[in-house]
Amino acid sequence: MNLSAQQYQPKTLKRLGDTGFLVEWKDGHRSEYPFPYLRRMCPCAECSAIRHKGLDVHSLFAPDGEGDSSLIQVSDDVLPLDIQLVGRYAVQFRWSDGHSTGIYSFQTLKEMCPCPECAANIDENEVDPTMSRPEFQPDKHEISPRDLKDILDSDQQIVLLDVREPNEYEIAHLEGATLIPLNDLPQNANQLDPQTEIVTYCHHGMRSLQATAFLYQNGFDNVMSLAGGIDRWAVEIDPALARY
Ligand SMILES: [Zn+2]
Ligand SMILES: [Zn+2]
Repeated sequence: MNLSAQQYQPKTLKRLGDTGFLVEWKDGHRSEYPFPYLRRMCPCAECSAIRHKGLDVHSLFAPDGEGDSSLIQVSDDVLPLDIQLVGRYAVQFRWSDGHSTGIYSFQTLKEMCPCPECAANIDENEVDPTMSRPEFQPDKHEISPRDLKDILDSDQQIVLLDVREPNEYEIAHLEGATLIPLNDLPQNANQLDPQTEIVTYCHHGMRSLQATAFLYQNGFDNVMSLAGGIDRWAVEIDPALARY
C-alpha cells in the first residue's frame, strides 16, 4: 500500500474536547472518531487478540478483520490523557483506563473511519482501486519451520525478526534474531531494509503474522511469518530450545 497516497495522509488532527478525535484527510475526507470507539478498536496485539477471541488467527486479516470490538471492556467515558504523534505516520493515545500500547497508523485510522460512507465501502468488500498493493493474504506469508531451517542452512541471506517481548527473547530465541517487539515495530520499521528477505516469528505465530502484515502494507515484499512460532520450531526442529 502506498503510504504517500493522499487518502492516508492527514491534513488536520484535532481533539474534539471530551467527545472524540477528528482527522481531516488530504483527499478531502473527514473522519470523526468517538473516543470509546477508538479505544475499542485499539490496534495493539493484545486488543486484537481479545477482539478475535476464539477465532482463527487468519480472521485478523479478513476484510472485516477488526473482530468483535464489544469484547474490549471500556467505559463510555474513556478519554485520552495524552495524544502523541509517532513519526510521520501514526498517533498514540494514552487512555484514561491505563492502556497506551496501541499505535494507530494513519492508514489504520482511515480504514476504521466510522462514517456511513466508509462503513458502506467495507460492507461492499470493495478493494479501493487507488490502493497500489494487493490485499495481504496470510496464507502466502507463512513459512513452515522445516522450510525456514532449509533457508538458514543455505547461503541465502535473511533477517530473522523476533517480535516478542524482551523477557520472552531471554528465555529462548533463534540465533542471530533481531528483537523488535510488535508494538514497537511502527516506530522501528525504518531499521529494516525493505529489500531484504525477512522472516518474523513470535511464540505461536499470531503476533508475527500481524508484524508481517504491517511490514507488507508498508512496502516490504519479501516478508514471511514462521507458522506456529518458536514453540513449533522447538518441537519440530530444535528440541534443545527452552519452551514456555
Ligand atoms: Zn490495545
Ligand atoms: Zn469515512
